Amino acid sequence: MSTEFNAFAMAQQQFDAVADKLQLEGGIRELLRWPQREYHFTIPVHMDDGSVEVFKGFRVQHNDARGPGKGGIRFHPQETIDTVRALATWMTWKCAVVDIPLGGGKGGVICDPHDLSPREQEALCRGWVRQVARNIGPVQDVPAPDVMTNPQHMVWIMDEYEKIMGGHFPGAITGKPVELGGSLGRTEATGYGVVYTVREALKRMGMEMEGMRASFQGFGNVAQYAAKLLIEMGGMVVSVSCWDNDDQKAYTFRKLDGIDIDFLLSITNRFGTINKAKASAEGYEQLEADAWIEQDVEILIPAALENQVTGKNVNKIANSVKILAEGANGPTTPEADAVLKDRGIYVIPDFLANAGGVTCSYFEQVQCNANFFWPRDEVLERLDQKMTLAFHAVADLAEETDEYMRDAAYMIAIQRVATACRLRGWA
Ligand code: NAD
Repeated sequence: MSTEFNAFAMAQQQFDAVADKLQLEGGIRELLRWPQREYHFTIPVHMDDGSVEVFKGFRVQHNDARGPGKGGIRFHPQETIDTVRALATWMTWKCAVVDIPLGGGKGGVICDPHDLSPREQEALCRGWVRQVARNIGPVQDVPAPDVMTNPQHMVWIMDEYEKIMGGHFPGAITGKPVELGGSLGRTEATGYGVVYTVREALKRMGMEMEGMRASFQGFGNVAQYAAKLLIEMGGMVVSVSCWDNDDQKAYTFRKLDGIDIDFLLSITNRFGTINKAKASAEGYEQLEADAWIEQDVEILIPAALENQVTGKNVNKIANSVKILAEGANGPTTPEADAVLKDRGIYVIPDFLANAGGVTCSYFEQVQCNANFFWPRDEVLERLDQKMTLAFHAVADLAEETDEYMRDAAYMIAIQRVATACRLRGWA
């Protein structure tokens, strides 16, 4: 199977390379290469037109040695079990690298929410949790939002879960609205977390955010907040790209003197699609999908989907690029990664760069358990501390051992999970 287009093969390939370096022995190595558990199921939904449509759903639990599984639920028409496996694996490393007591899980439904009414989406969410309610929960595996799922979806899932289990379990799911046990700061946490790591990387390179130019792939939750904070810190965003559902293709929107984030947000729908006509009326150039990667900028932030920086487009990256911070999960293929390494581009790997979301989800669980909620500033301050600490631990190891940042992050994460497995006597 080609690793170019299979996210799980890619996740295993990344793991294998580091397992070799760490000289992980047979049992523990095999254990960590595979998910511990997988649930595959069908979800029948009564559609608004009276028909019944059957959707395919998944939940994968990669490893829970360090604590309950944690990871989002993604709604996507091209969802595959291998994508969910890869994402669950990356969640294990992500929780370990930021040192929170959680494992890795991920869920998905093959569907396109664009085609579903709110009532149909509610039925899908409730149907999803009915199939896995006994296998998830605050002490087993805690879902959260991901691509094309949002706090409302999480409430429907929590409500159905509570009906089935007979009680209140706000810690069963995170990414809830603030009015129902969500944490302040969660919406912006992933994007802000990406920028905290970029800020620290710049410091290590003897540079500042002031005057830095950035280009993003994607303009959804992660990219929007990352762009906002990057601009607040003195940087400039020259381009962002997004998927256009009407045209079934992606576009890059560019403004060489810097995007106006509030304006762009005002013309972006809830799926992260920018209105082309309104953008062009304000002087935004509309370029091809891949144009985001070839911009003359210092910072590249892929924040859309996996497998986006590939052998085909990696050489389009301009010489001006110093940092590539992976907001998305698995955006860079191993082939492209080798080129980035060769060119000396400072890569902040996905499971470190975008760990702000899960860190804040962990804070949400802590707050729900204590039934005491922190102000937004406190959440973001703790988030900044966790991300900064995790970033420098990885950067220090990378420097000391002359390892690539991704490998150093893997080394820290895999060692932590392997230690937990060994202490439990699993391998
Ligand atoms: P989102 O659904 O809010 O936004 C996705 C964005 O990507 C949209 O703007 C969409 O138009 C764009 N997009 C989709 N396909 C594209 C393509 N082919 N080319 C260009 N743009 C495209 O999703 P999100 O929550 O921002 O997540 C983005 C990535 O970050 C995913 O890989 C997700 O797994 C990862 N991530 C998200 C979080 C989180 O807290 N939201 C946390 C960790 C990692």
